[in-house]
Amino acid sequence: MDSDIFQDLFKNGNALVVAEGYLFEFERRGYLRAGAFVPEVVTEHPELVKQLHEEFVHAGSDVVLAFTYYGHREKLRLIGKEDQLEVINRKALDIAGEVARATGTLFAGNICNTTIYRRNDPDTFQIVRDMFKEQVVWAVEAGVDFIVGETFGEFGEAMIALEVIKEFGKGAPAVITLAACGKDSTMDGIPFEDACLQLEEAGAAVVGLNCARGPKSIMPLMAKIRKTCKGPIACLPVTYRTNDEFPTMQSLIDPETKKQAFPYNLPAQCSSRSEIEEFAKECRDLGVEYVGLCCGNCSHYLRVVAEIYGRSPPASKFSPDMTQHFMYGDKTKFHRYFHEETARAFQCA
Ligand SMILES: [Zn+2]
Repeated sequence: MDSDIFQDLFKNGNALVVAEGYLFEFERRGYLRAGAFVPEVVTEHPELVKQLHEEFVHAGSDVVLAFTYYGHREKLRLIGKEDQLEVINRKALDIAGEVARATGTLFAGNICNTTIYRRNDPDTFQIVRDMFKEQVVWAVEAGVDFIVGETFGEFGEAMIALEVIKEFGKGAPAVITLAACGKDSTMDGIPFEDACLQLEEAGAAVVGLNCARGPKSIMPLMAKIRKTCKGPIACLPVTYRTNDEFPTMQSLIDPETKKQAFPYNLPAQCSSRSEIEEFAKECRDLGVEYVGLCCGNCSHYLRVVAEIYGRSPPASKFSPDMTQHFMYGDKTKFHRYFHEETARAFQCA
């Protein structure tokens, strides 16, 4: 797909709903380790990766994102599996491509922050470029519709990712998203909205923010990005209760212990479904064209986003309907056996 066709997708108020969050979900299920966070599940249990792609599409994702996040050379070196770099990447791309074709969704490749970029050390720039290049070439060979470059804290690294996609992506559009740290600007000091504008002007088809921040703390930045950028913008927060005081998931504390919650005790700060609903409405009203969820995403959250964006994915067949609940439902459906007393007892009323 070339950039023009991709841009046309967003005309007339159309949007893409995009499921991310594969690393956290597979860590939670016991198929990769928190810490290094490498997608080893791709080769160890490809059937589960396929299933999660299918589940996210079922819940409303318009895009199947190949699970190559942190499947790059540096992360694989860290766990002593650099020799599996190409195998993991090609396998992840094959699985995602297969699901995308079978479900009529878009197929996306994925590169991300390398963890070795150092803005004051130009020697790292070429290493980073080479790491992106090998992954972009594999994605193109797998036939991706577009390529996502994500979670860049450094604008300089995001720009290298964009340049590599433009140079080696054979016309595949680039979606570039920054991970917004606790400040108003990238690690290299560029206000997020200006960084997004520069990426847009340099040829990114979609720009915006993903990861790091939850719904409440990502939206003030998105409002500035909306005002500054002319093209489609992306917003994919984590699903945790960040706020002004604790703007990133890395800064959150467990309210019980007052200790850092990331990553082990982040479940103590999970967003509610109502908060995700509110977030999706804000994105819709702001005109966010590429909306989704990152770390912490689960199908029950993504379905809410899809429904707020006017979709009715297969999973909507089972969206909550409490009228049939024996304690809280419609009394007329239960005749004489409605459990008002039980409801009061459980509510401690
Ligand atoms: Zn994330």
